[in-house]
Amino acid sequence: MDVDVFDESWGAHEQIVMCQDKATGLKAIIAIHSTVLGPSLGGTRWKTYDSTNEALTDVLRLSRAMTYKSSAAGLNLGGGKAVIVGDPAKDRSEELLRSYARFVHSLSGRYITAEDVGTTMADMDFITDETPYVAGISEALGGSGDPSPVTSIGVLSAIKAAATHIWGTGDLAGRHICVSGVGKVGSALARHLADEGARLTVADIVAESAARVSAETGAEVVDVEKAHAVPCDIFSPCALGAILNDTTIPELSCTAVVGAANNQLARPDHAEALKSAGILYVPDYIGNAGGVINIASEAEPGGYNAERARQRVAENIFASTTDVLQIAERESITTAEAADRRAEARLEAARSTPRIRTFPQEKPKR
Ligand code: NAD
Repeated sequence: MDVDVFDESWGAHEQIVMCQDKATGLKAIIAIHSTVLGPSLGGTRWKTYDSTNEALTDVLRLSRAMTYKSSAAGLNLGGGKAVIVGDPAKDRSEELLRSYARFVHSLSGRYITAEDVGTTMADMDFITDETPYVAGISEALGGSGDPSPVTSIGVLSAIKAAATHIWGTGDLAGRHICVSGVGKVGSALARHLADEGARLTVADIVAESAARVSAETGAEVVDVEKAHAVPCDIFSPCALGAILNDTTIPELSCTAVVGAANNQLARPDHAEALKSAGILYVPDYIGNAGGVINIASEAEPGGYNAERARQRVAENIFASTTDVLQIAERESITTAEAADRRAEARLEAARSTPRIRTFPQEKPKR
């Protein structure tokens, strides 16, 4: 399918930049979906694509999703994303990254880049040599470092908000929670849940990861194929996307789904299937916004403050989750639709109010 970027069904993006540098082999696309709420922020994904069309489709979809994530989280940031086309394991070089960084710089702060699948914090540190328009850099360079621990705090807050909505209390002592995928976010989440006195079940395709978290938290371990079907209060997908699909939804045996994984619904209509099954779903981009809220804190006056960022994430995500669940209940719509409405309402309100549309802060070069 050819992409018609001017057809509104693709998201009506403000700006799409094709970047090519023959000397370094760089081929990249930067998509700015919206700067209505502020400068667009989103990571740089580095992977091989079968075609330019496929890369373009991916960057358009991802940048639009960032607009919704930041808006729903109450941030004054727009949505953008970039893809570098190629194999990071083979093509990575300082020259290519610097060349890419100069393209980012040419947008004068309308797009702020960050780490994503295929790029590393070390890559972001190289990018700071060419442009200040990069976030999520290492703590040594004054950045916020790995966002995963803060993302886990946000997911914990979303779980507490869902628990309060369902049971009238956010106290998780004795609640049974099944975490599928105990990588950077899932393992930190499992430790927080254990501290809260929750009963835990964990699963991971890497058996040692599940065993390590089990040893730390006392969690029971189950096979990854069975994790979604464990009878529990909350199922928390923290691995890959599309875990909520035609096969898994009828097998769910939980009251709510709240996790860190991106794109948990295999198709948009699976939100309706969850609603029909009486399962409360906290939309992925509401629960996992801790990473972007944390990164946004880098641009605050006085620079990044870890304690302040963690507190902001916890409060912010509790409030946005509660709001989304209440909208869904009040309007008798799915939680996914309620999240989109919350995001769109802020965008609509901002269209009539001028905002800063470029990244305000110059960072010192290393
Ligand atoms: P990660 O790679 O550290 O962890 C993922 C874990 O899932 C790994 O331990 C992996 O072995 C396991 N896994 C893979 N396939 C699995 C399967 N089928 N069943 C069970 N386990 C499986 O990644 P992460 O940074 O912890 O991110 C987890 C998810 O959260 C991803 O979807 C990511 O996009 C999303 N997310 C992460 C952040 C962040 O700050 N890291 C922010 C927002 C969203």
